[in-house]
Parts: sequence; structure tokens; C-alpha cells
Amino acid sequence: MISAGIVTVSYIAATILFILALGGLSNQETARRGNWYGISGMTIALLATVFGVVTNNYIELMTALVVGGSIGLLLAKRVQMTEMPELVAILHSLVGLAAVMVGYANFMDPSVHFTGVELTIHDVETYLGILIGAVTFSGSVIAFGKLSGRIGGKPLTLPGRHLFNLGLLIATIWFGREFVIDSAAGAGITPLMIMTGIALVFGIHMVMAIGGADMPVVVSMLNSYSGWAASATGFMLNNDLLIVTGALVGSSGAILSYIMCRAMNRKFLSVIAGGFGTGGGATAASGGGEDQGEVVPISADETAELLVNSKEVMIIPGYGMAVAQAQHIVFEITSTLRAKGVNVRFGIHPVAGRMPGHMNVLLAEAKVPYDIVYEMDEINEDFPDVDVSVVIGANDIVNPSALDEPDSPIAGMPVLECWKGKTSIVLKRSMATGYAGVQNPLFFKENTRMLFGDAKETLEAVFKAL
Ligand code: NDP
Repeated sequence: MISAGIVTVSYIAATILFILALGGLSNQETARRGNWYGISGMTIALLATVFGVVTNNYIELMTALVVGGSIGLLLAKRVQMTEMPELVAILHSLVGLAAVMVGYANFMDPSVHFTGVELTIHDVETYLGILIGAVTFSGSVIAFGKLSGRIGGKPLTLPGRHLFNLGLLIATIWFGREFVIDSAAGAGITPLMIMTGIALVFGIHMVMAIGGADMPVVVSMLNSYSGWAASATGFMLNNDLLIVTGALVGSSGAILSYIMCRAMNRKFLSVIAGGFGTGGGATAASGGGEDQGEVVPISADETAELLVNSKEVMIIPGYGMAVAQAQHIVFEITSTLRAKGVNVRFGIHPVAGRMPGHMNVLLAEAKVPYDIVYEMDEINEDFPDVDVSVVIGANDIVNPSALDEPDSPIAGMPVLECWKGKTSIVLKRSMATGYAGVQNPLFFKENTRMLFGDAKETLEAVFKAL
């Protein structure tokens, strides 16, 4: 058992390391260092907690650590890059579940004694912790289902759904009052359990009501909730580090939600209210696909010829690049073209792929230099000077109907305006829609060429021809 002073110092050190980790992760060049800060902070936090805070039950604790740690290690090793968003969602659900369980355990713990105002404050902390934890848990499970395609992306629009939500909110406040009153009399488990049920229903309904195209905001929002759930747990357990770490995760998740909302030109509240977007992950051409004209296919050899004869090439990666694992061959092509004097740049849409930063992670893995990777805002004006845009497995993020069709589920979302360049070459396997389930008029434009096939295979053929 180490002294309380050492625990406090360790907690301060861990907090500083977590803040440095967040700072590091905000930039690709420093992301690796940021990760190490995070790992070091978490190691210090765990050691200080195990040897300074836990006083007994070491065997149970170690068993849980070994079992949980091994499952985590195995999952992280096995997970495909395309399954990362689902993994993140299910991990958020575990944070929520932990908050609920800690809340109940803490409430039922006979050694926890509070009276008067202190008891009321503790009850409110417990109630809020379980409430946020339960919403995070059920919401994340549904998000997992939606991201993995087990649940359709179509928004569930119950009649009177806003009234339903309002009813749940009023009931939650009412049972909160009942809980605080009952708890002072030594009871309170019934209102607590009813509220948990309501919170679970609310989490399910909230995420079910959100359409495919708005899922990025939900992922970051649940990330934020998981942080607040952890923070509330910290208050319940009187653990400063958990409070601070939870608040860091909660606020950075909230900022990310704001960035994602801005990227999609949505108001946060209207996303939460739900109903946007259509069925996600559709595999057949649908919605607005009628009579858009003919598409013009292109071969790998012709693509290679167009590329070597260009001065300015813009590569636009999307979810399909992750599916095909084409990032390494993209790097080879980029290097070859750059060696031939072609200026190759990458345009990254904030919601490309299935999680924030998805494309940046893949490109960094393939060692694409950071200085040729640009955010959408930095390069969207440059398309008129681009000779060839290579759209690799991207769809919604290059869909002109977001700008032209007010009724489109993705209306208002800024997109990469590649059609303003000389030629766009779109690599995909079929005419299937993207995640938002809407057809893409880009494919039918005069200056668009379709290179059909798995992105990795077709790019290998292009590389050979180069
Ligand atoms: P999309 O899902 O719109 O399109 C991906 C395209 O890739 C599909 O049209 C598909 O067409 C093609 N594709 C799939 N596999 C392959 C393959 N092996 N080879 C070649 N092409 C392939 O992706 P975008 O990146 O353009 O847009 C992201 C979408 O995901 C947005 O709607 C966004 O809102 C949503 N989203 C984003 C999240 C985030 O945080 N970034 C989270 C959740 C959702 P085909 O089947 O014909 O090959």
C-alpha cells in the first residue's frame, strides 16, 4: 500500500500526461508521441489506484484485470481497420455499463454513509451517473448495430417522438426527486431501477432516430457521454483522477461533435432530435438513380495515361479505400507520380470513412507524407486547377446533390467539389450508393470516368501500367 501523497502526485502526473496525449493526438506528426503519453498516463493511473486506493480484494481485482486486459488485447489485435468504428462504439457501451454498475454497487454498499446535504449530493451524483451511463450503454449498443450493418440505418420516426422524449425527460426528473426522498429514508432502489429502464429506452430511441448520414455526430456524441459517465462515476467514488479524465474525454468528445456538426452543416440539436438521413449502407443503386444518364467507364491503362500526363492530381479517399485496404498501393502510385513531376495531393473530407480521422490513420499507416494531405476547407477552392481527381471508394463526400438538391438527406453538407476539375475518375465496384443511401449525380457527369472493381485490384493494375 503506497501513501496518499504518492497517489495524489501520481494522479497529477497522469492528468498532465492525458492532457499532453490529447494535445499530441491533434496533429499527425505528434500523434504517436500523444499515444505514448496516454499509455504512460494510464499505466501510472492504474498502478497508483491498484496499490494506493484498493485496500483488499486483490485477487478479484487482478483476475478482472487479466481477463479484461486479455480480451481487450485480443480484440484490438484482431480488429480490421474497417471494423474500428464498431469497436469504438462497443467500447463506449462498456464505459456506460461500468458507470451503471458502479452506481448500483455504490448505492448498495453498506459502508458508504452520508447524512443531510452530503447524502443529497451523493444521491444526485449516483442518479446522474447511472442515468448518463445507461443512455451511453444502450445508445452505443444501437450505434454498434448500425455501424456494423446489423441494424438498418433508416431513422426510426415514431409518431409524436418529441413528445415521447419529453415524457421520458419529465419522468426522469420526477423519479430523481422520488429517489432522493426515498434514499433519505433508507430506500430508493425502485425509482433508481425505473429511471435506469427509462434511460435505456431513451438511449435506444435517440440513436434509432438518427439517420445513416448523421452517424458521425452520434459516434462523437457517445464518445462525449462516455466521458461524462466516467466523470460522474469519479464523483460517486470520490476519485479526482476519474473526474478529471472523464471531463477531458467528455469535453473533447463534445468539441468533436461540434466539429462534425459543422462539417455536415447540421445543428447539434436537430441531429439529436433525429429523423435526418435515409437507410445507410444500401448496396443497390437507389433514390434518385432514375434516368440520370449513362456512365462512362475507363480502363486501368487509360487511367495511368491520364495520370502521368497531368500536372495536378487530387486523390480523394473514402470508406471504400478502407474496405479494399488500398492505402499502400495508393502510396506507391503517389510516389511514382511525384517522381515523374506530377503534383499529387490528398483531399480529406471530415466525415470520410466511418470514424473521425479514419482516412488520416490509413494514409499515415501507408507512410503518405503529411504535407500533401489537406483538409477539405484547405483545398476545395483548388479543384478548377486540378487535372485529375481520383475518387477512391468515396461516394457521399463527393455528392453534388448535397449542394443542389434541398430534399436530399445529405442536403447542406459541404462536399469535395471534384467535378469542377478537368476529369474525375471514380473507383468503386458497382453503382451502389454510399452510407447515406442516395445516388450520386457525379458518376453521370460528362467529365467523370468510372473505374469499376475492387479499389486495391484496380489500383494495382494502374500501378503496373504506370
Ligand atoms: P460512402 O459510404 O459514401 O461510400 C463508400 C463507397 O465505397 C461505396 O459507394 C462503395 O461502392 C465503395 N466501396 C466499398 N468497398 C469498395 C472496394 N473494395 N473497392 C472500391 N470501392 C468500394 O463513403 P464516404 O467515405 O464517401 O462517406 C462516408 C459516409 O459515412 C458519410 O455518409 C458519413 O456521414 C458516414 N459516416 C461517417 C462516419 C465518420 O465518423 N467518418 C461515421 C458513420 C458514418 P461499391 O459498393 O459500388 O464498391
